[in-house]
Amino acid sequence: MVVESLPHFTPPARKRWESISAHVRHRLLTNVWCTHCRCETTIVNFSGAIKGGNLLLMGECVECHGDVARVIEGK
Ligand SMILES: [Zn+2]
Repeated sequence: MVVESLPHFTPPARKRWESISAHVRHRLLTNVWCTHCRCETTIVNFSGAIKGGNLLLMGECVECHGDVARVIEGK
């Protein structure tokens, strides 16, 4: 069990994120599209919030440190 540090998640976002299984979370974090690198990258230093019923992760690209985001659609 990997204990992740989630200092910038709102409580509902944290709850949603923690409802996702660890291997799926890992995949979600490691196949984020970076418009700067024009390739899939890993999102780091991310925060989480619920927007329009979806979980929105906002962070930076591990390669170029540009802004990247991922929307995880609600069930
Ligand atoms: Zn990048």
